[in-house]
Amino acid sequence: MISRVKGTQDFLDMTLFNVLIKSTKEHLAFHNFIEIQTPLLEHLDLFQRSLGEHTEVVSKEMFIIEPRQESSERICLRPEITASIARAFVENGIQNIPWKVFTYGPCFRYERPQKGRYRQFHQISIEVIGASSVSQDVQFIAMLNALFATMCIDDFVLAINFLGCSDDRVNFIHVLKKFLDAQSGICRQCLERKEHNVMRIFDCKNVDCQTIYKDAPHIVDHLCECCMQEWQQLQRQLSLLSVTYVYQPTLVRGLDYYNKTVFEFMSNALGAQNTFCGGGRYNKLVKEIGAKEDQPSIGAALGIERLMLLLEPLKETFVVEDEIDPLYVIIPMTNAQHDMALCIAQDMQKYGLCVDVLFEGSVKSMFRKANKLGAAFALIIGEDEQRDDCVVVKDMSAGSEQKIKKEEIVDFLLQQESCSI
Ligand SMILES: [Zn+2]
Ligand SMILES: [Zn+2]
Repeated sequence: MISRVKGTQDFLDMTLFNVLIKSTKEHLAFHNFIEIQTPLLEHLDLFQRSLGEHTEVVSKEMFIIEPRQESSERICLRPEITASIARAFVENGIQNIPWKVFTYGPCFRYERPQKGRYRQFHQISIEVIGASSVSQDVQFIAMLNALFATMCIDDFVLAINFLGCSDDRVNFIHVLKKFLDAQSGICRQCLERKEHNVMRIFDCKNVDCQTIYKDAPHIVDHLCECCMQEWQQLQRQLSLLSVTYVYQPTLVRGLDYYNKTVFEFMSNALGAQNTFCGGGRYNKLVKEIGAKEDQPSIGAALGIERLMLLLEPLKETFVVEDEIDPLYVIIPMTNAQHDMALCIAQDMQKYGLCVDVLFEGSVKSMFRKANKLGAAFALIIGEDEQRDDCVVVKDMSAGSEQKIKKEEIVDFLLQQESCSI
């Protein structure tokens, strides 16, 4: 008998897998993400450059395809999808930013198969490329938080940390190395990591190392002023949206490309491999891959196998519907209206309204963007509206507008929807 390849699995019932994908797709459509697909095969260079040569994924776990004699191309099976999406962004000359996309499918890592780890595993990758506002991070994390809530997963913890900009990281690496130099008893692997990829020491499972690192310096205590403000804004706005989180100073994520915001969703129901979604900001990756300019971006990867383990007991409880709803685009005129925009968007989404918020660009470009997105209504919040606690609701096809009190927005829009049916 020919058996399946080590570290792979057969899905003999795709029901749960499909329900999971379907409800994720629906949720992402509500948040104005579009689905794309990139190849499973990529050039090895892509991951060497993006993930970092010294990360374990690249140094030990790549599935490299032996080149035929006539070709010297080094091709591999993708170990993750973010770098592929960034490559697609650059290669296809995407101009329309923020580019809010997602895709899902298999990824491959040549690691020792163990419980909860496969050589072929499946991920949903969600990315916002070309968006620098911290408000965007907050909305992104809140969107994921709401997704898991709609799936009825409630036994999870959201951990966050802030890694700062590249200068902060260089400074912190000095601080951390100095701390490590003064310690004895850290394991061999960590000593090696200290030279090449010192931030990874925090992932060490060795008990002695863990005890030592409890007293390690925190990167958030070594941020520049600008990053410090962003870190505080991140925490404040997460609380504003009632997103529960814990600050975890040792959370660094495995890959080199992360900076600033990083986060993980974890569940105790999963045992040792307890992270089922992780992500963060990657402001330099797009340039690293060959674009002329940096594109500040944020993304997340969701582990499908791990989500399926969490959903198995809840299989019957979530329902999926199919329909296309009108889109409402909120336009805060300046950063000062971001808080109000975030709250209104959250309120509207609770009532099943399809909402996007434009956090960046001139007012003119935001209107152009709203038009391009096919918005039914634009909700404009300027200084006056903020003061009066209302918004200007503009009917994008009729061109008419009216001022609506904040607390009456949802009722007003639901009424418009029922009229148009
Ligand atoms: Zn900084
Ligand atoms: Zn260690």
